[in-house]
Amino acid sequence: MKIEKDKIVLMHYTLTDNEGDIIGSTEGDVPMAYMQGKGNIIPGLEVEMEGKNAGDKFKVKLPAENAYGKHNPELLHVVDRSVFQGEEEITIGLRVNVQTPNGDSIAVVSAFDDKTITLNLNHPLADKDLTFDVEIVEVRDPTEVEIEHGHVHGPGGHHH
Ligand code: ZN
Repeated sequence: MKIEKDKIVLMHYTLTDNEGDIIGSTEGDVPMAYMQGKGNIIPGLEVEMEGKNAGDKFKVKLPAENAYGKHNPELLHVVDRSVFQGEEEITIGLRVNVQTPNGDSIAVVSAFDDKTITLNLNHPLADKDLTFDVEIVEVRDPTEVEIEHGHVHGPGGHHH
């Protein structure tokens, strides 16, 4: 079965950066499951998946702008250090939960001094070119409920 809009795809992948370091992989785990055409995976990869079949293996390199985007300086927020009163020790790279207009998110402390803390809300993989090594395990039709919800149910997908 061919991958097209609304099909459920089960896939194994290994994700590496420009240095060849492995960022993530489903190797030895359950395959990742997603619904094609719903923006459930990064746009550049979704485009590559279209028209592929179960059993296909391929490798694709996505420039940052087709993956998690370029580093956006507008996503650096300088906040008053008093906001973190009583919190654990502030260090570069510390991950903190923040509330944004789009809901809860995770920011990383990218700089700080006696008075302020700079929070970076860019995706951790922003600015990185990514290579996906993909093996398509299964392609199936969605159930009615999956179409209604716009995502996969069951192994590798949502459980609710
Ligand atoms: Zn659902």
